[in-house]
Formats: sequence, structure tokens, C-alpha cells
Amino acid sequence: MQDQFLKAMSSDGSIRVVIATTTNLVEEARSRHKLSNTAAAALGRALTAGVLLTPLVSRQGQIVLQFKGNGPLGTVFVDAYPSGIVRGYVDHPQVELPLNFLGNYDVGSAIGRNGILQVTIDHGFGVVQTSSCELFSGEVGEDINRYLCNSEQLGSIVVVGTHLNSSHVEAAGGFIIQLLPDHTEDTICKLENNIATFGTFTNLMLKGLSLEEILGRIINGFKILPFEETKLLYFACKCSKERFNQAIALFGRDEILDMAQIDGGASGKCQFCSEDYYLTKDELINLAQNIQPLS
Ligand code: ZN
Repeated sequence: MQDQFLKAMSSDGSIRVVIATTTNLVEEARSRHKLSNTAAAALGRALTAGVLLTPLVSRQGQIVLQFKGNGPLGTVFVDAYPSGIVRGYVDHPQVELPLNFLGNYDVGSAIGRNGILQVTIDHGFGVVQTSSCELFSGEVGEDINRYLCNSEQLGSIVVVGTHLNSSHVEAAGGFIIQLLPDHTEDTICKLENNIATFGTFTNLMLKGLSLEEILGRIINGFKILPFEETKLLYFACKCSKERFNQAIALFGRDEILDMAQIDGGASGKCQFCSEDYYLTKDELINLAQNIQPLS
């Protein structure tokens, strides 16, 4: 099943729900960055959160999440676009921790419980807003929930999960429910009942439920308007050989000629997606010849 995003709202105007399955894109991130299971669980949750928050930005914009905790993973970075494209990395992808007392990957300790979650919203018109809040638990979902409560002034429920077997990501996804101004006590009671019997998001995926069926479990008892938006999701990056060439060109003609003669080539790895790039000796000389010498 392809990764999908779906946005819906109740007909009584009490709740808005965004929900996404992200198994393939999280597996792509795990494979590209050679993530440990703990790192894959952490980045998987963060990538899913990034996707779920894209309704906050305009169609040309992007949202960047940076979990800067005191744990051994270092910074967990994600940027997501309303088109459905997302990418991300962790500073230390090999970090592996023992399972926590619940038998889950210890994402809270890996990210760290002291630090900040920084959220940058670029609306795409030169308007950029950056805000931050203290990490709550480092477990990602709770931290995003706190950010939404602070920034949007609306109560919300955030669930993000990544399920791995010994070699790859089996299921990943999550949802955000936001309580809208028209919600009542009855709204909250119904949601609490639904969540209490819900189980875990990834378990429902593993049982083979579709995105619409999982949504049905979350919003059981609510009448939902026809879905506002559905789209497919992908892990993708903006890097390219051309951009790598441009980055190397910044070293200047003489330095590039030295690279060609002394090193016989130049290599680099994209931080965001771990794609490897390489320029041969001849390509470096060609690049240098197209740069004007300093006068
Ligand atoms: Zn890249």
C-alpha cells in the first residue's frame, strides 16, 4: 500500500483529523541513512509528525521540525512539504538503546527529555515563523502535542508510531485530532472512548486495515464531511549532481584544480538523504575551467 495522507472534519464542526500511513517513506529513510532500530523509530515518528503538520503551511511552503534534545541521537531534523514530500535525518544514526520498560524503542531517551523542539514554518512568500517549546518527553507525539497546544491554542491528540521487525519498517503512521471551537464535553467523551478501545495505530495497520478504516475507528460516532484532501506521500530530497557541482564550485578555481591533481576527484554525501555524489578528475578540471580566475 502506498503512503497516504487524508484530512477530514466532522460535520458538526467539533473536530478536524489528519491521518497518514508512512511505512514506505520511513523504510526509505531507514535504508538510506542506515538507521539503527532506535533511530528509525525516532526519525519515523518525526517524519510522520512532519507530514501531519503540513496543513499548517500554505501550498508553496514547508515546515521544518528540529528535536534538539540532550540524548545520544543528537538533532532529529525533518522538513515536509504540502505536496506530500518529506525528508529528514538524525545526527547519530547508529545509536541503539535497550528497549524501555514498556518493551518499546526508547525514543524518549534517544532524543532526550531536556532540550527544545523548534518548528519553522515557511509560508513560501518570504514569511518565515520560528517558534520553540521545551521537550516534554522526547517521545515525539507528546512534544508535538505540547507545541500545538502552545501555538494553536487548541486541544489536540497526537499519535505517531513506527513498528520495526529485525530488518525493516513493517508499519508507520499516525494521526492528529484537533478540537475545534465548537467542540463540547460530548465530543471529548466520544473521542476518549474511541481512543481507549483503539489499540495502537501500527497494530491496526499490521492487521491490514486501510487508512479510511483506521480513521473510522478514531472518529466512531462522528459524522464526517467528505474528505477534504487525500494525497500520496514520498521520501524525497532536493539534492542533485548539479547542486553538488555548485557546492564544489564555491571552493574556487585554484582549490578545485588542487582537488583534481592531488585527490584525483571529489566526493560528498547529502546530509538530508545520504545520497553519494562524486566528481572525477576530468569533471573537476572541466568545472574549474568554467570558473573565472581571481584577478
Ligand atoms: Zn539529498
